[in-house]
Amino acid sequence: MLANRKTKIVATIGPASESEEQLKKCVMAGMNVARLNFSHGEHSQHLKVIKSLHKISEQLKAPVAILQDLQGPKVRVGKIKDLRIEDGQEVIISDDAKAAGKNGIPIDVPDLHKLVQPGHAILIDDGLIELKTIKVVKNQIYCEVIHGGVVRERKGVNLPQTSLPINSMTGKDMADLKFGLDHGVDYVALSFVRNAKDIIALRKLIKKHNPTNPVRVVAKIEMAEAIEHLEEIVEVSDAVMVARGDLAVEVGQARLASLQKKIIMVCNQIGRPVITATQMLESMKENPRPTRAEITDVVNAVLDGSDALMLSAESASGKFPVDSIRTMHELIVEAEKEEDIYNKISLESKIQHIPEAISVSASLCALTLDAKVIVCLSTTGRTARLISRFRPKAHLLAATDEASALRSLELCWGVQTLPIVNFKMNDDMIREIEGLLLSNDLVKPGDQVVLTLGLPIQKGNKTNALRVFTIGNSAKKKKDKAPLRYQVFPF
Ligand code: PEP
Repeated sequence: MLANRKTKIVATIGPASESEEQLKKCVMAGMNVARLNFSHGEHSQHLKVIKSLHKISEQLKAPVAILQDLQGPKVRVGKIKDLRIEDGQEVIISDDAKAAGKNGIPIDVPDLHKLVQPGHAILIDDGLIELKTIKVVKNQIYCEVIHGGVVRERKGVNLPQTSLPINSMTGKDMADLKFGLDHGVDYVALSFVRNAKDIIALRKLIKKHNPTNPVRVVAKIEMAEAIEHLEEIVEVSDAVMVARGDLAVEVGQARLASLQKKIIMVCNQIGRPVITATQMLESMKENPRPTRAEITDVVNAVLDGSDALMLSAESASGKFPVDSIRTMHELIVEAEKEEDIYNKISLESKIQHIPEAISVSASLCALTLDAKVIVCLSTTGRTARLISRFRPKAHLLAATDEASALRSLELCWGVQTLPIVNFKMNDDMIREIEGLLLSNDLVKPGDQVVLTLGLPIQKGNKTNALRVFTIGNSAKKKKDKAPLRYQVFPF
């Protein structure tokens, strides 16, 4: 069943996956988080997807988190007809299309010529095309083509050696953010983060717009400057993305693999969910099977400690969106047979508050008693997040009646969500939970269960209690159909 997988799957939605029928298939194949990429698409298209996902989630009893990925100050090629440029050729770049000329490349950064210096690299289309600045004359930047190719309109441009005086949020990002918050996204990802201040500024905007629902913030690590401020960024973010596409171009491809490991390690240490992203199954845009290198990349990202892996064009515009998700699921499940990924963080960590004390104790109980399940009765899902950090082997269930908490937990390693309604804290509580676990095939009589909760429960207190019990012989299954992720394949 899908609930057996600990590492979560983020799938980017686009033309190949945005119909209601395709979205349903994506959820059934294992998508936990839907990424809406605001570099593309109209608001009306994104809204349709959000509405469809809410409907499908309810039908299947399978919460799906919605991640809004803001474009950020991405530099792009301006209006241009496809232009082939050859190695060794000279080409003119300018912020003024006229100055660039018919065979030049307009780039939409005002006064670019004042910022670029001879020797600086200009990389186009994720670094596939490489130019080197030779000289700057007025507003014309003369470049030598190091690696040529076809330059297309709107392709991304990276200038790793040039410091660009740009805001982390553009006017478009502001309008997109308002749209996302108005329509209930669960996470907002900020592109081209440079330091903690960028995240704090976004958080303030979110709080101003949504005082009662502090939507979570994902920091995309894709700039050399972000690597310099990594710890402070991770500290103030709710989650992090290793955005390997731009990162590889910005820091140089040779540093990518070690930086991926470093970012994941920093996130694991302080318990921030971390997404490894970009080109994980790239060849599945065209083919029904991945390459050997992609298979190994997915498995290694799991072993590195990722909370989630992301599909980009594979699920957004490729020929095999649903197969990509299914393949990723299969590869992850197999990788998770490796014992090294469990119980990674020391349980002797510094304890700062009561929910943290309970989460450490629950993880320790589950480990030493070989408990099959940890259940967190919760409002916000905070305890399940805290326990996720310790990477328990037991099933980790967050049970709450708070729909937004259920959705946002879909990004967190190992946390499975269980919607509950009108849960009463009384003598029957343990029997209720036994029934839920049995009917979802998570336990059998004799298995140990660790339960965390906030007492008195009716007051919605923060987690302050831990209980351990054994599934009784007389425990009864409930008759309701299990939520999608607890059903046994094929559905
Ligand atoms: C990336 O650069 O890897 C990434 C995920 O960001 P985007 O798709 O917005 O370029």
